[in-house]
Amino acid sequence: MQNIYVTKPYLPPLDEFYPYLEKIWASGVLTNGAAFHQELEAKLCEYLGVRHLSLFSNGTIALITALQALGIKGEVITTPYSFVATAHSLLWNGITPVFVDVDPLTLNLDPAKIEAAITPNTTAIMPVHCYGYPCDVVAIEGLAKKYGLRVIYDAAHAFGVRFESGESILNYGDLSVLSFHATKVFNTFEGGAIISPDLQTKTRIDQLKNFGFTDEITVIEAGINGKMSEVNAAFGLLQLKYVNEAIELRKNIDHTYRQSLSAVSGIECIHAPYHVVGNYSYFPVLVTPQFPLSRDALYEKLKTYGVFTRRYFYPLISSFPMYKNFPSANPENLTVSTDVANKILCLPIYPDLTPEQQGVVIDAIKSCVS
Ligand SMILES: *Cc1c(COP(=O)(O)O)cnc(C)c1O
Repeated sequence: MQNIYVTKPYLPPLDEFYPYLEKIWASGVLTNGAAFHQELEAKLCEYLGVRHLSLFSNGTIALITALQALGIKGEVITTPYSFVATAHSLLWNGITPVFVDVDPLTLNLDPAKIEAAITPNTTAIMPVHCYGYPCDVVAIEGLAKKYGLRVIYDAAHAFGVRFESGESILNYGDLSVLSFHATKVFNTFEGGAIISPDLQTKTRIDQLKNFGFTDEITVIEAGINGKMSEVNAAFGLLQLKYVNEAIELRKNIDHTYRQSLSAVSGIECIHAPYHVVGNYSYFPVLVTPQFPLSRDALYEKLKTYGVFTRRYFYPLISSFPMYKNFPSANPENLTVSTDVANKILCLPIYPDLTPEQQGVVIDAIKSCVS
């Protein structure tokens, strides 16, 4: 029996990648914003429906750079229910993370609780579009205006997600940050990007990701090396040709899970809070007390069937040693997040998951109730 993991990186046919490599070998230019890098930035702007995009070597460096670009200091309101890189990007900038609880339905930051956590030291909000389901971007925009705060979205899960109007969710906030890590819907092995609303901001970010250089001999600030190489950019161009197909395959898997699991008492599927064109990046379910096994018992039981799910996002970021002593990390302040973290289980979803494999996952869950 072959193991089934929560995800498997999407890879296009290898022989289609060789011509890109031949071009790189012929040019002898491996990085520093060369041809493939420029082409991928342009094609991603078009595909995503955004104005300006800066490629990065990974999403975490992009988050760190986004905070630098806006000069964020003091306290930043963020979610404990995310991958640890969200809060790490704040600590790496000497910023105090202020954890705010999530909404029980969307699993994204609750706007009312954001407002209650704003202090004179608050400078920004860093929400996450968790699982690619949009945050309440309108309410967050309202708060940002009312209190003069910046908004940087960690949009690592939100590649290609749009509202029904066709508007990309990446166009909300001051900046949005994507990850193209191997496990994400669109991958460049490692990679990431910042979406900027105007060319001036993009230019600033492009300088910051290249040590602060503006030309051959001028360094205007202490930048970092966040550049994406030509090999990764070329791979991105090839991936982009297959991404719609890959998302369509994910969509079918999502629908099959919803149909098959709706009758299973104690397993609750999570729904997008608005009508969106989603990307089906994850398939999270809540294992509630109605289910015969605890979440952790189910997680272990599934392993005996060769099914390796993941408990994203457990433990909460706020419980890790470098965060747990911040006042806002007190679990009493984060009751919804704590409850969800104890119930959540992400089931396998990826383009190459076969109907037979998905059947193994579903039957294994059902076998616990009968
Ligand atoms: C994957 C991820 C990141 C980090 O991206 P990398 O490209 O792996 O550095 C940040 N935030 C969230 C929510 C993520 O899922």
